[in-house]
Amino acid sequence: MKQVAVVGAGIMGKGIAYAFAVSGYTVMLNDVNDQILQAAKTDIEQLLDRSYNNGFINEETISEAKMNMIYESDLESAVKHVNLVVEAVLEKIELKIDIFKKLDHYCKRSTILATNTSTMSPTEIAAQTNRPEKVVAMHFFNPVHKMKLIEVVRGLETSDETVDVIKEVSLSLGKEAVEVNELPGFVTSRMNCLIGNEAMNMLMEGVASAADIDKAMKLGLNHPMGPLELADLVGLDSRLRNMEYLYQTLGEKYRPSPLLTKYVKAGRLGKKSGIGFYDYR
Ligand code: NAD
Repeated sequence: MKQVAVVGAGIMGKGIAYAFAVSGYTVMLNDVNDQILQAAKTDIEQLLDRSYNNGFINEETISEAKMNMIYESDLESAVKHVNLVVEAVLEKIELKIDIFKKLDHYCKRSTILATNTSTMSPTEIAAQTNRPEKVVAMHFFNPVHKMKLIEVVRGLETSDETVDVIKEVSLSLGKEAVEVNELPGFVTSRMNCLIGNEAMNMLMEGVASAADIDKAMKLGLNHPMGPLELADLVGLDSRLRNMEYLYQTLGEKYRPSPLLTKYVKAGRLGKKSGIGFYDYR
């Protein structure tokens, strides 16, 4: 299991690659081109340096982790020798299915294929492969280096062995796993999207300012982050995709807030674009 690949080097892919690399795994990180991978390398190495400077990892771990990371834009070369692939590309079902078909073709027969989807169906993705018993969702949280949880989501055909291996891998990363049976949004996204959407509707209705909605949730309900700052961290485009999927599958109560849709249309995507519910510029 010590050789893994991560497909997608965005917010989550970089974090997942970091978590594996500091835990002694060799990580092949893949994305569509070398430019994105070069930027990912810079970010991952900066995070390693920060973790070292803040005393979270020692000198040996940082140099090992840097050596453990391989950046590879050719998907077949990235995945052909590994034992586990974690896919972390955009939350679009057609894209994920296309990648899983390729992974099924390129990977060894024994390789486990995991998706980091926030909401979607590992069963639907698995059905497009010849190894549905080895397909599972391994849902990490943002920022990965800080968040303890991994939701292990069992699709209809996922084997007990696959679930057990993913739970063991989660532990080896210093994380805790919960096992969830597949329904859209699992436990966390289903709950979190609803809270965030309600906060956006309140902001739109003029109930309170963004800062006061977040402050109320933090100080009154003991949430470590407000729902609007959390949505900015996730990325409003990603959140909108999650809401659209949950609205399609679970119905009316997940209708995306019109304010969220408007922000995404305007290019206000949260922290990653410099502005969302808050201004980071
Ligand atoms: P992101 O937009 O930051 O990154 C996605 C990456 O995928 C980009 O670098 C893009 O170039 C790459 N990509 C697109 N097509 C590809 C392909 N064919 N091959 C390889 N790479 C490709 O997205 P993100 O926020 O990291 O989300 C990734 C996944 O993680 C989504 O399924 C999302 O729902 C899930 N997720 C996100 C969060 C969060 O807080 N952002 C939390 C948990 C789970």
